[in-house]
This record gives sequence, structure tokens and C-alpha cells, in this order.
Amino acid sequence: MDRNILRVDTLVTHTDRSPGAPADVAPVLHQTATFRAPDDDTFRQMAGAPRHDGYYTRDGNPTLSAVESLLASLEGAQSCLLTASGMGALSTAVLGIVRHGDHVVAQRSHYMGTTQLLGEVLPRFGVDASIVDEADPDAMAAAVGSRTRLILVETPANPLLRLTDLARVAELGRRHGVLTLCDNTIGTPVNQQPIALGIDLVVHSATKFLGGHHDLMAGAILGSRDLVQQIWRSHVVLGAVADPFAAWLLLRGMRTLALRVQRQNQTALRLAQHLAGHPKVARVHYPGLPSHPQHALAARQMPGGFGGLLSFELQGGFAAGNAFVNAMRIPARAVSFGGFESLATQPAAMWSGSIGDDAARAAGISPGLIRFSVGLEHPDDLIADLDRTLAVI
Ligand code: PLP
Repeated sequence: MDRNILRVDTLVTHTDRSPGAPADVAPVLHQTATFRAPDDDTFRQMAGAPRHDGYYTRDGNPTLSAVESLLASLEGAQSCLLTASGMGALSTAVLGIVRHGDHVVAQRSHYMGTTQLLGEVLPRFGVDASIVDEADPDAMAAAVGSRTRLILVETPANPLLRLTDLARVAELGRRHGVLTLCDNTIGTPVNQQPIALGIDLVVHSATKFLGGHHDLMAGAILGSRDLVQQIWRSHVVLGAVADPFAAWLLLRGMRTLALRVQRQNQTALRLAQHLAGHPKVARVHYPGLPSHPQHALAARQMPGGFGGLLSFELQGGFAAGNAFVNAMRIPARAVSFGGFESLATQPAAMWSGSIGDDAARAAGISPGLIRFSVGLEHPDDLIADLDRTLAVI
């Protein structure tokens, strides 16, 4: 079976039937830290083979390999490296690439942890970053200099769902011989394929849509065999290795990835349209709305759908946002996103404490902003709950 021509819906259900693969239809969980070697020669061979998945789990593990091979096929990548979390993927990928004295170009709108990696961790190792407006390709091009080693983007970006033109970023990177990396956590491979657009590396927080059940932490790095192999050399030392059980849960969750994300796309679009007409809502951020300033780019770049995450600004600022999260009944007040149950948070309450009020404001986070992760509930029930909540605040 040629995996290259299969659609995401089919790929996620596919079980490895290559010669020598286990006969189990459901994958085997290899919950072990280490593996027995039958003799000296085999032991030496295992010890010297990079990414061997039957030697020591920090180097590799068959359950991790099963997830890696599925994810690689979903993203159209030659290779995948599973990690313990999304931040494990981001920090390992970046630290596996940059050297002292290098420069990184990144966006204004990034997940908070990525902003901290760029602003707090990398400078301690002599790596500086230029932060540019993701919607301004000229600013990004102007920021690339002779020391630039990496362009780091996230699209749609957390929490304002701003977009970055991936084809232009890929072209910019190629022109300057600079590596490009896209965080595809919010987009998911169901909706967009950065590698097909020319991006070198993709990272995921698999904790979110890929896992889909709010029950695991994991991350992934995807790209060419050579690049992922290079990053693995740092990974095996940095040690953000996924636990086999988390990998097994992830594989189980990914069986329904296409189904879940398609439903989340549909419901999120309905909620966004509904909220856009509500008098207590000042602004809705969702790439699927024609009012989104980058809607044309979204339609081009996200052929599968516009995603299951949206955010909106309430009239009435912080107090209104706070009242909203207190009054809602269906979504849980919890961080994270992408799972079966809807979640809603007020980013100003969550981010200011971590990065400070000024940095939160600079990242465009207004006090009355609500981030809403759409789950698998019936859309009519979610709309009814939104209307009821908005009526009481
Ligand atoms: N990337 C994005 C876009 C995220 O939203 C997050 C977490 O919210 C991460 C990466 C980090 O992932 P994790 O929490 O799995 O470390």
C-alpha cells in the first residue's frame, strides 16, 4: 500500500503490516526502559546504532517508533522524533540546531513558552532573536541577517489565531540558506501541511489535538531524515524523551484525529460566526471568518479547515472576561486545548503572571480576551451555553 497517496483519515487507522511487524491489530505497549541483548556482537551493534529502538528507551523504543512513523506519514515528513512535551520538542529542536552566536527570527505572536525560550533561555547561550510581525513578510525578510540560523513560526498562533504565510517563509529560508521551523500544533496535519509548502521542520505539542483526550503530554519534531537525526543527537543528551505509555495513548488518540478535527473545525466556525454577531463581543479571532485580516491566506494555506481554537474579545475588559469564565457551564476553565471537552480561559489572567502585563499587552493580549478550545459537544449546546453566559455577564 502506497502511504503517500492515502488521505489523513485512512493513514490514522492504518496498522503496520510490513514483514516482521507484530500481528497485533492494536499496537503493543513496550513499557520498558531497557532491552536485553542476546550476545556481545548484538549488544555492540545496538549500542552503536543511532535511534536503535531495542537498546535503551532514551535512544528509542518500538512504541515510540510506531507513533513516529504514523506522524511522519501525516505530516509528509521523512522522519519524526517524539518528545516528552511540546516544549520538549521546541527546545530540543532549537537547541539541536543553533550554536553560540547564531540569530533566530521569530514572531510577535507565539505560545508563551516559545516566547520564554527565545527571550530567557537562548540568550544565556549566546543566541539572540528578532521578533517580527508575523503578518508582515517584508519585516521578516528584513530581519534575516548573516548570523540567522533559523526562522521560527507558529500558524495559526496561540492565542490570537494570527497566520504566517508559510510558502513565503519557506522561500525566504531557501533564499538565505536558513532553516525554517513551524509549530503546527493549532493547525494540525489534518488542516495544513507545512512541509509540503517547503518548511524544513515541524513541531507539535501532541498534548493538544494529536492526543485529543487531555490525558497525556507529548511533543514531536518532524523533518528530513538528516535534520531529525542531527536533532536526535542533542535529544538523547537533553533527555526530553516521551514515556512509552504516553506514546501508546497518543497512538490510540490519533486513530480519531481526522474525525475529531473535522468536527472541531465545523463547530468552531459556527461558534465564531455566532459570536461575531453578538453585541457583547467586540471582536472574534478565527481564520475561517471573512473578517479575519488573513482570511484569504487561511483559505489557501489551510485546505482541511480552520481549526478548533478561537478567541474573542468581550466588551467590558478584564471584569467581563473574568465574569465569563466564572459563568460558563459547558467549557472547563482549564489551560491547554485540542481535546474532546471544550475549555475556555482568559489569557490575560494566565499569561500576565508568567510573562508580565507589558509583555502580554505587547503580544496583543487584551484584558477581555477569551480563548475557547472547541470540543466534541453538540454545537447547539455550546451556542446555548455561550448565549446564556453572555446574557448573565
Ligand atoms: N506550542 C503551542 C502552540 C502551544 O500552545 C503549546 C502549549 O500550550 C506548546 C507548544 C507547548 O506544548 P506542551 O504544553 O505540550 O509542552
